Amino acid sequence: MSQTDFSVISLASIASFDAEADVLVCGFGGAGGSAALEAAKAGARVILYERASGAGGSTGLSSCEMYLGGSGGTSLQKALGFEDSTENFIAYLEKAMGVRGDPEKIRLYAEGAADHFEWVRSLGVPYKEAVMLEREVVPLTDESLLFTGNERTLEFKDVAAPVPRGHVPSHEGDFGGRMFIDALTSAVVEAGVDVQYDSRVMHLIADEAGRVVGLVVKQDNQLRYVKASRGVVLTSGGFIMNDEMRKRYLPDNHKWATPYGNPFDMGDGIKLGQAAGGYTINMDEAFVSLPIYPPSKLTFGILVNQRGERFVNEDAYLARLAHYASLQPNQQLYLLVDADNFDHPMYIERLDVVATGDTIEELAAEAGIFPAGALEQTVAYFNQHAKQGVDPKFRKAPEWLSPLEKGPYGLLDLSFDKQTAVIMPGTKGPLTFTLGGLDTLPTGEVKRWNGGIVEGLYAAGRVTAGLPRSSEGYSSGMSVGDATFFGRIAGRQAASQ
Ligand SMILES: Cc1cc2nc3c(=O)[nH]c(=O)nc-3n(C[C@H](O)[C@H](O)[C@H](O)COP(=O)(O)OP(=O)(O)OC[C@H]3O[C@@H](n4cnc5c(N)ncnc54)[C@H](O)[C@@H]3O)c2cc1C
Repeated sequence: MSQTDFSVISLASIASFDAEADVLVCGFGGAGGSAALEAAKAGARVILYERASGAGGSTGLSSCEMYLGGSGGTSLQKALGFEDSTENFIAYLEKAMGVRGDPEKIRLYAEGAADHFEWVRSLGVPYKEAVMLEREVVPLTDESLLFTGNERTLEFKDVAAPVPRGHVPSHEGDFGGRMFIDALTSAVVEAGVDVQYDSRVMHLIADEAGRVVGLVVKQDNQLRYVKASRGVVLTSGGFIMNDEMRKRYLPDNHKWATPYGNPFDMGDGIKLGQAAGGYTINMDEAFVSLPIYPPSKLTFGILVNQRGERFVNEDAYLARLAHYASLQPNQQLYLLVDADNFDHPMYIERLDVVATGDTIEELAAEAGIFPAGALEQTVAYFNQHAKQGVDPKFRKAPEWLSPLEKGPYGLLDLSFDKQTAVIMPGTKGPLTFTLGGLDTLPTGEVKRWNGGIVEGLYAAGRVTAGLPRSSEGYSSGMSVGDATFFGRIAGRQAASQ
């Protein structure tokens, strides 16, 4: 048996087990900790295996923004005067996910997200009743609620009233994930879960009927055989660090994006699940972020490609901006600003100024925008309508429309081959993590290609195709929100067998 092929081991081939529990959980990030806690609370004996020497995974590295709402509003939304009906939340999520969305997961999530927030609070994670309304990805001050998606853009306002849904632990700086994981670890240990670190799950064990009945874990360089009397839950994260899988499933993204995750985002769980008969979906989708998120005044500028054409409403969220930017020729893009709307955010010195000019003609010639006259035409068309407060082509919201009329003009380079990343200086292109994986029922049961399920096997978090399905519709907080919400359900489901 190879130690890295993740093949299924037959129950009949095993002489004796080294250990046994009711529920075995593979990976202690957000999904795994949540699954283990709920399974233990439901009365199951639980072992939680983690490949690293400590808990956290990508969840521990994250800001722990969770995208929550519905039920009239979470307690935080309500306290800050925001109302968010479940139907409003569903309308937003359905628009965001489009045809790739899973309607059942969307409904379940929207119905349960407000209660889920109370669960997170019950772990002792602190939230402050303060909202940030600026265009920011994460507040570096201590507010706990912010807009983290496309809610305020006209296209989304057509279907759902805009409400801030990004819930982030209160702190100064960006440590939300650590705070959440520390609180979750205390709860997991208190609930009696047997947590074993430096333990890499290598194989699943299945009986003759294909039911998963245990796993093989590598500890101290030894393979140990462990029996699961109720179920095995895969929560080992995505595959953004696995170069081979990334090249296969995300060949374009592989060329220009920088992986964002923990070193063990190697797709182990996806391979384990596939070997047991699980089906994968959405493997060609990943979150990507524009290297910068144009804040406040820069949003009055326009994004253009190397042909001088606009391609997106600039007030969209950074994941949506990056999605459309990735479709432009050679992923070359520029932000055009005029003298009135130039701003000096802290990172501006990281951006190359491709050209400046007292007129657009001068600037376009200096930048080598081809064909000649294209940028002038784009700006003239934009200005003509911006004066009337409309953007017929891309529907940027009126509050961000102002004609670009006052020179000198500047063209800032946001092309993916430039080192413009603010969050990870020195890297090129968007940061990225995967959004595809095992296809699951909302209960966490892993589906087979024919619609049946792999008995005894559950999964949640980035090892699955969960709630978030595309960068185009991504709001920050959808991933940790999804991993913890569906992780809890998967843990309860496994324990109930
Ligand atoms: C810096 C950063 C910031 C982010 N900020 C946010 C945010 O604020 N909000 C948001 O929604 N999303 C955010 N994301 C994305 C989000 O953090 C992840 O998508 C999400 O946390 C994944 O959760 P998970 O439980 O599925 O996986 P993880 O949290 O990665 O946990 C998986 C665990 O499984 C372990 N493991 C892997 N293979 C094995 C194996 N064979 N055996 C045993 N254990 C194994 C790993 O070591 C890891 O600990 C961020 C990502 C990064 C990198």
